[in-house]
Amino acid sequence: MSQGQNSITSGVQNGSHRKPAVIPFSSRLIEGRALAQDVWSIFNAANLPSDCLNFGQGYMNFAPPRWITAAAEEALNTVGPNHYSHPKGRPRLRQAIKQFYGPQFNRDLDSESEILVTSGANEGQYSVFTAFLEHGDEVIIFEPFFDQYLPSVVFNGGKPVYVPLHPPSREITKPTSNDWTINFEELRASVTPRTKMIIVNTPHNPVGKVFTRAELEKIADLAIEFNLLVMADEVYDCLVFDNKEHVRIATFPGMWERTVTVGSAGKSFAATGWRVGWLIGPASIISPTLAASTRIVFCTNSPLQEAAAAGLEQVAERRFFETQLKDYQERRDTFVSAFDRLGVTYTLPEGTYFVLMDSSNIKFPDDYPFPKSVLGRGRDFRACWFVAMEIGVSSIPVSEFYCEEHMAIGENYIRFSFCKDLDTLKAGVERLQNLKPYLA
Ligand code: GLN
Repeated sequence: MSQGQNSITSGVQNGSHRKPAVIPFSSRLIEGRALAQDVWSIFNAANLPSDCLNFGQGYMNFAPPRWITAAAEEALNTVGPNHYSHPKGRPRLRQAIKQFYGPQFNRDLDSESEILVTSGANEGQYSVFTAFLEHGDEVIIFEPFFDQYLPSVVFNGGKPVYVPLHPPSREITKPTSNDWTINFEELRASVTPRTKMIIVNTPHNPVGKVFTRAELEKIADLAIEFNLLVMADEVYDCLVFDNKEHVRIATFPGMWERTVTVGSAGKSFAATGWRVGWLIGPASIISPTLAASTRIVFCTNSPLQEAAAAGLEQVAERRFFETQLKDYQERRDTFVSAFDRLGVTYTLPEGTYFVLMDSSNIKFPDDYPFPKSVLGRGRDFRACWFVAMEIGVSSIPVSEFYCEEHMAIGENYIRFSFCKDLDTLKAGVERLQNLKPYLA
């Protein structure tokens, strides 16, 4: 398949005489679905009208707290943190992670061997795959999935195996993220002698599902039975609503030694561009991952590690996560009122800052002037483009979170991010009412 290869080559050749590239690129880009333009670049604010309200890529339109940016400033004006960090991460940040998260894992974490600071959660995950996957090892991924997992697994020789989160049945008029369900027979059937890992993303992007203790227990039992490594992607751990419980699978009996938990300063402190994340796990997982990470990025940017440390050091006394959670719950409730008023079906998220709307009823003309980037993709790409252009509200097509074979499921949904200030959310709610004439 060389749609991507052609498009890159034709970009150079500008037209129909496709000559092979002078220097052919690696086939892993095709296998890792990296050639089709990524959804974040297509629905980037830079490509949309300047007055379009951005509810697409998940980043905030407000700054990190002043007491955290002050720590960043101070670090920038100090010699040490302008230079390389230890590849494990700066001691102050590892200490802060130990203090804040240790109790949540019921452990006295060893900041030398059980914590690794990474260049965003993404790099941490990539390094785990590099450290643990042999060619052909299978990684179980619940679908829909955060799009970056696929290339990260494939680039490291792994093979993704998809297990569905089944969408709520059409009879449920007001579904919540808990109505996206796992069939445990299917999960068990997906395990083969080559299965090495399972990724458990809770709270889940893009569904907002907060995996229940019962679900996690069954996953843990399977991981133990088949000796699987569990990657617990918990980057939205501070965003669990409605008094639901965020359960860490690493805390279950027999799970610490096989689980690596992923965290993110970006999500916690409204600082997604800082690219500061971390991994928590046993030395037997952290140490090979450190070996990989050191040879991929060497270390993570230093000044912002100091700032993230200042953040974690103070969250408890400032009750920062408690206050932030209340704010987010208000943001969620404000934003979803748009769908209630429109009478469209959506999944009320119990966690994260994402909400899925059923977009199958949005009508748009087939001959709408769509850009090339959304043609030949799922219907939801065109729906999102149309909504951005006509309504002035951007969102993300959910088929991007499905493998090619299952894209037809994802095509029915579009994802909005509500990590925005209340005024913007209210403006979004009003604008979205203009969708009415386009709903079948
Ligand atoms: N996690 C962010 C989201 O889902 C996007 C991260 C990225 O752009 N790679 O919106």
